[in-house]
Amino acid sequence: MAAASSNPPPAALVCPKCETSMPAIATFCPGCGHAMKGIPPADRVLAALAYLTLVPAAVLLFLPGNRHSAFVRFHAWQSLLLWGAFVLLSIVAILLSNIAATTVFLLLGILALLAMFFLWVVLSLKAWQGELFELPVLGMLAGRLR
Ligand SMILES: [Zn+2]
Repeated sequence: MAAASSNPPPAALVCPKCETSMPAIATFCPGCGHAMKGIPPADRVLAALAYLTLVPAAVLLFLPGNRHSAFVRFHAWQSLLLWGAFVLLSIVAILLSNIAATTVFLLLGILALLAMFFLWVVLSLKAWQGELFELPVLGMLAGRLR
């Protein structure tokens, strides 16, 4: 025997759903995940509960004296990974949106500054040339106030 991994163990079980062959000790079909041995109802409930956010999954996995079946542990881990990815993506999205908002405000601020500078130049020039140059709303107000 050179290497055990090069010789797959003889197939002793065949999945009734997808006909994948697997060793006799397999609990689940590696092809489609079909349960090859009956899953107790309590384990199914626990596995389903594992998806109610991170907390039950973490409790199922890390609480001492809670050595559940591979079925429950699989779903608990899957829930942890899924919720972990969701939380991580949410944080990234919030950070990115904050950066985007900051960038937009910065650009608007620069635009406003440029517009103000442009107006200052134009209005100063018009006044110096002796023109009564009215800005849209503000000029009308100034006309009333003088
Ligand atoms: Zn299968």
